[in-house]
Amino acid sequence: MATRILVVEDEDALCTLLEYNLEASGFTPTIVRDGDEALLRLREDEYDLAILDWMLPGTSGIEICRQLRARAETRALPVIMLTARGEETDRIRGLDIGADDYVTKPFSVSELMARIRAILRRHGGEQDGLRVGDISLDQNTHRVHRAKREIHLGPTEFRLLQTLMRRPGRVYSREQLLDMVWGRDVYVEARTVDVHIGRLRKALNRPGETDPLRTVRATGYSFDETYQ
Ligand code: CA
Repeated sequence: MATRILVVEDEDALCTLLEYNLEASGFTPTIVRDGDEALLRLREDEYDLAILDWMLPGTSGIEICRQLRARAETRALPVIMLTARGEETDRIRGLDIGADDYVTKPFSVSELMARIRAILRRHGGEQDGLRVGDISLDQNTHRVHRAKREIHLGPTEFRLLQTLMRRPGRVYSREQLLDMVWGRDVYVEARTVDVHIGRLRKALNRPGETDPLRTVRATGYSFDETYQ
């Protein structure tokens, strides 16, 4: 599968250099020159890694990174920040915006490629699979199984199950699930969560099978940690 990398950079020469070298390294780059357009792309498309310049027209790289970390869908997206010499790299590091790595310009392209590969390797290890009892969820392929049966889920039900399975036993309120699954900036009514939990249950459970999802009265939902 192609590894998609979003590059947000406003210097034309650097865009050309990165596009060429990323393609040569077998990645699929998307180059965006403006911070606002980057945010739009990150909402609409899925990427495996983002390279963000700090100073950009429109939204800054730091603000983009902050927004990525605030949304459930992009919280785990690997981010490399680019800073120009003199842009106080140390201060950016100190800002704790959650970037995975920082590279100061001018940089060696081969070093950047090595850092990209290292980060992707690290993330690949963390992100593979979740399993509780006979239910397994693969975060790379988005396939879900109950024992040997494949469960087909819509994107919202998938993220809902993924969120609950990451912390079995933890009870999430509808509001928390809205933030984590739909995103903080989207306005959706709390009962929408109930509708999607209903769909998720229907997909997961055949008649007579144990329901791994718990409804906690007046609170919300959790994935039953005692489910086996
Ligand atoms: Ca710049």
